[in-house]
Amino acid sequence: MTETTTIRFLGGAEEVGRSCFLVEGTKKTLLDCGVKLAEEEEEFPLIEMAEARKIDSIILSHAHLDHSGFLPYLYREGCRAKCFTTKPTRDLIQVLLADYARLNEGSAYKEKDILKLLKSTTLMEYGKAKEGVVMHNAGHIIGSAITELQTDGHKILYTGDLNLRPTRLLEGARKGYEADTLIIESTYGSKKDKHPSLKDVSNRLVSMAKETFANGGKVLIPTFAIGRGQEILFMLENYMRSGALEETPIYLDGMVNKVLRIYRHNALYLKKEIQYRILSSDDDPFKSEHYFVPKTKDRSDVFEQERAIILATSGMLNGGPVLTYVKKLGPHKENTLILVGFQAKGTRGRELEEGAEELTIDGQIVPINLGVERANISGHSDHVDLVDFARNVKGLKNILVVHGEPEKSRELADALQKIHKKARAHVPKLGEEIELR
Ligand SMILES: [Zn+2]
Ligand SMILES: [Zn+2]
Repeated sequence: MTETTTIRFLGGAEEVGRSCFLVEGTKKTLLDCGVKLAEEEEEFPLIEMAEARKIDSIILSHAHLDHSGFLPYLYREGCRAKCFTTKPTRDLIQVLLADYARLNEGSAYKEKDILKLLKSTTLMEYGKAKEGVVMHNAGHIIGSAITELQTDGHKILYTGDLNLRPTRLLEGARKGYEADTLIIESTYGSKKDKHPSLKDVSNRLVSMAKETFANGGKVLIPTFAIGRGQEILFMLENYMRSGALEETPIYLDGMVNKVLRIYRHNALYLKKEIQYRILSSDDDPFKSEHYFVPKTKDRSDVFEQERAIILATSGMLNGGPVLTYVKKLGPHKENTLILVGFQAKGTRGRELEEGAEELTIDGQIVPINLGVERANISGHSDHVDLVDFARNVKGLKNILVVHGEPEKSRELADALQKIHKKARAHVPKLGEEIELR
């Protein structure tokens, strides 16, 4: 190594949200640039706009807003960097960022800034190198990537959000890399974090739905626009197809439906068996007679149904149509709300998870009497899998643990230090700059 390489942690350090890491050597490369969504006010990465203009390239690991949401700001402020990403990610951010800009009118960027970003993208295929960058399937959502970055003779491996296990739609991420530096996520990095099998979770989901219907209630599943929503949909659809669950309309509200179309257009990035089902057309899982979109603004057509399963954004209840449903269904105990993804601190989802008896929505207090359940259909690897992934990376000198609450990142770093004794395992603080060995 001739030049020193440093990484500055501008976000996503000891927190889940606003992932943003600046790699500086002879060139400046930014790894992701997201926002941190919260009930009150959003938080942004600690990046100076003068700095943004000097960035040579940007790696976008996947479409979720905690990785992509701040990018158009950079382009609004004159950033001209090439943005390396996959095609599904580019298609997804096109709708996701536009939606975000609409919801945050005034303070945020405009459509034309998103266009600048889209025009700056360089599309990557898994496994094919371009200008020192190689991306591989990360198994987290469609198009998500693990990135290998060569910079000044130093190799950085950035996991983005990682899932080793195959899901209904996606293959899991593969193991076996070589790198000098590993930047690894730790959403479920604690030893206590152990995911049940997909089969157990789906069985649980179905029995909760059945019980709710028997009591005359409806099922509400808050979901991220991308990822879990599509997985749950396919799970439920399969059960109805096989007769294990009675036929029930599944309502898709918010971005879930738009995103579903993008999934179908990018079927090449899904499992082979799904591609096959699409091609054999009469078994296309994306075209089910069970899927519906609400027709009225007040969603009365949904509430009128005897039974219904509602998938609505946002996944942590910090906004979106899901709140309309919580207001209406929340006070009645026969209904069930099922949390399926990670609930960050400071969100209504987290409050529910911790047993809140009421929620404040649009200044109105909503009593929470409906059943709140968890079915962890995670798009993230748990502790054991994260350790397994890192164990299979050869040649490590630096292990930097990010994208997790402090205790979780710490526990993962400790476990990885024991395996890679010669490397330095570290949990960077927000704003910290680290010189790579
Ligand atoms: Zn993600
Ligand atoms: Zn993330």
